[in-house]
Formats: sequence, structure tokens, C-alpha cells
Amino acid sequence: MKNSKIRVTVWNEYMDEQKQPAVASVYPEGLHKTIAEFLNMEEDIEASTSVITDAEQGLSEEALGGADVLIWWGHVHHGEVEDRLVRRVVDRVQRGMGIIFLHSAHKSKPFMTLLGTTGYLSWREAEERCRIWTASPAHPIAEGVPGQFVLEHEEMYCEPFGIPRPDDTVFISWFQGGNVFRSGVTFQREYGRIFYFQPGHETYPTYHNKHVRQVIINAVRWAKPVAQIAARDCPKVEALEKI
Ligand code: ZN
Repeated sequence: MKNSKIRVTVWNEYMDEQKQPAVASVYPEGLHKTIAEFLNMEEDIEASTSVITDAEQGLSEEALGGADVLIWWGHVHHGEVEDRLVRRVVDRVQRGMGIIFLHSAHKSKPFMTLLGTTGYLSWREAEERCRIWTASPAHPIAEGVPGQFVLEHEEMYCEPFGIPRPDDTVFISWFQGGNVFRSGVTFQREYGRIFYFQPGHETYPTYHNKHVRQVIINAVRWAKPVAQIAARDCPKVEALEKI
């Protein structure tokens, strides 16, 4: 039974600023622990966590080795992630591992490398209301998610968003200050499925919201590998028919 579960690694920076009272009051053990905890309440998911201060910045072969899906939360330490580890993550996605980028992971090296764009957006931290609209109700990531729901406080991210044209725009968000954003978008890079989801500023209780949790649970199930390749070398093959 254990092997049939979707194995998830939740990666977070979790440096000192995430241990400050403003964040710790919302996520006492770090938001990565909160995310892993609600994922582990699902029978078909087995989640573990790693952080940037772990061995090989939490991206060791051990940490990634069994992962079907990697969840990435980063904010102010993107530049510190070693390029060789970024290549390891990108390589795994291209060969089939799913990856879910949360909130400010839009400027992480794996996000920009996989998508080939800047992740440009504009932002504002003003305790404003955010209304998330389900733009693709038939998408598996939207299953059980209402047509729209409200987060009382969220950091505003707005268009234009520096991403390639998504395969699907599952969610769009409206912010109290008038801005809008493609807040839930999917991509595929070779064998790997990619989902970006904007809500999740560290001082707001976003990952305690039941709809946000449902989106992330759905995204894990959607992003699990469908097919994988072991090697990257281009093999020479024999002809199937007489030439
Ligand atoms: Zn933020």
C-alpha cells in the first residue's frame, strides 16, 4: 500500500525571517510543515519536508529520490540555491517528476529555468482582499473547488505575468485594489507537469484555508508522473522493418 501513495517533498527556505513572530504565529513550525500535514491527511499521499539549511540545501538525492511531486516555496533566498541543485530539479521534472510552485516561487531558479521566462509581475503588501475565480471548472485541479472564494488578506500579485502561454489557466484572482492575476496556471515540460499557484504569503493563514488546501491536494494528484524516462542520452535504435 505504501508504494502506491504519491510521494511528495515540500521544500521551503525556512530561514530566520520565517521564524519571526509575524510568521511563526501563523505557521509555528514553518509553512512547509503545515502543507505536509494536510497532505498527509489524504490516504493516497505521503509528504515529507526539506529546507534550504538541510544537506545539499534540502535537494539531496535522498530528499528528491523518492519524490513523485516536489512543492517549492521560496521568497528571498532564490539566488542562494546552487545551480547544480537547480539542474538536478529541472532534470527530474523533465524526466517526469511533477512540481508545484507556490506564491513567490515565480522568481525561483527552477521556475525561470523550466519556463524560460522571467516570472515578472508587480506586487503590493497591503492586507487586501483577494477573490479567486475558478476559470477552468472542468480541470482536475479545480475538482471540489467553488466557482469563487475569498481570502481576506493576501499579498497582491498582478499582470502582466512573465510566463509562457499556459496550457491551462485554472484560476484567476481579483484583488481589492483593482488588479487581476492568472493565479493558477499549468505547463508541461517534456514528461513533467508544472502548476503555479499564487496564494500563500507567509504572514497570512492562506494554507489553513480549506479551498487552498483542496487546490494543492488536487494539484499533487494531477502532477504525479504519468510516464517517466530514466536516462537523458539519445539512444541509437535498430529498424523495426527491413530498410
Ligand atoms: Zn509574499
